[in-house]
This record gives sequence, structure tokens and C-alpha cells, in this order.
Amino acid sequence: MLEIYTIPVTVIAQNCRILADLEHKLAVVVDAGGDIAIVQNALEQLQVECKAILLTHGHHDHVGGALQLSKYCNCKIIGPCKEDTYLFDKLQQQAKAFNLEPCETFYPEFVEDGQILKLLPNVTFEVIATPGHTPGGVCYYCKEENFVLTGDTLFAGSIGRTDFEGGNFDDIVNSIKTRLYCLPDNTDVFAGHGEDSNILTEKHNNPFVRA
Ligand SMILES: [Zn+2]
Ligand SMILES: [Zn+2]
Repeated sequence: MLEIYTIPVTVIAQNCRILADLEHKLAVVVDAGGDIAIVQNALEQLQVECKAILLTHGHHDHVGGALQLSKYCNCKIIGPCKEDTYLFDKLQQQAKAFNLEPCETFYPEFVEDGQILKLLPNVTFEVIATPGHTPGGVCYYCKEENFVLTGDTLFAGSIGRTDFEGGNFDDIVNSIKTRLYCLPDNTDVFAGHGEDSNILTEKHNNPFVRA
């Protein structure tokens, strides 16, 4: 059983998530975008060891604190797909453009569509490539706990912007329709910004992409 803790980080209030297995005192952190002192403090309070940092895509508000946290926890940084490499090349420019705290350049272990990540004892995370917001963007589906982390691809009642470099509106619509709306209706949607949702609600109500 995982407990999910949401910590809005950076001035953009990006939903950094701690997925904690309290029984085994282990955790995975998703989209460590910044404000790492708060994330470290939460990990300490929960008394869990962070096994890995997962990234949904290469935008700075999602990755800006990953290197710092990985050094602190001595853990790997995993994802997104290699098509987002150009965003990691440009971390400094991104920080300036979005007025975010600068971070050192780094590159994660890139993942591939369909890859199954076994990072915690009783759960798996399946990589679902969902290009559109960025070309290498991914979602992480946890079948055992019935949720999907959708980054900036799918939000409650909205979808990710496609007007940034590398964005493509047709691709994001296709990703959502063919890769996310085929998940079980009761799958919880944990998005990179804003409220949580679930697949059925978005299929019926999302004004941008209806099933
Ligand atoms: Zn983004
Ligand atoms: Zn974002």
C-alpha cells in the first residue's frame, strides 16, 4: 500500500509527489521540481528512504530539484524518454525564462515506452510514452494501486500546453485518447498541476479531449 503525499513546489506550484511505502520505509519521489528542503524534510518526517526520482518530462518546474535530491538520497533519476534531451541541454535557459531557481545541468536515465520499473517491493510503474506537451514526455501507471501520474499531459478538466518548443497539439490529443483513456475508468489521475481526477471523469468532462 502506498501513501501519496503532494507537495506543491516552485512558484508555479508543480505537484511534486512522494509515493511512500511506510511498511518497508521506502519511497519514490516524482517530479522533484524545486524547494528540495521541504521534500527532504517530508522524507525525514515519514522516515522513508527515497529509492528513485521519476521525471515525467524535461520542463524545469518538474526537474529543477532532481539533481540536488538525488545527491542527498544517493538515488537514481529516471525518465522521461530521450526525445526530451534538448530540454535537459537547456536547463539554464529554462530557469531564466520561467524565473525559476537555476540548477546544474544533468541528464537522467532515459526510459522507453512500455518499460516496467520495479522500484518498490509491491508495486510496479509502467512507462507510457505520451508525446505532445513535450516529445519525450511520459506518464507512469501503477496498476497495483490504480493510479497514473500524468505530468503536464492530462489535468483535471484540462490538458498540457503545446505552444512550447517541441509541443504538438495533435500528438497530445492522440496520447490522451489512445494511451490514457484506455486505462480502467476508476484509475486515479495525479497531474503535475492542480487537482486530482480520474479517467472516467476526464473521459466525460474534459473540454479538450472527450472519449
Ligand atoms: Zn511542462
Ligand atoms: Zn509543469
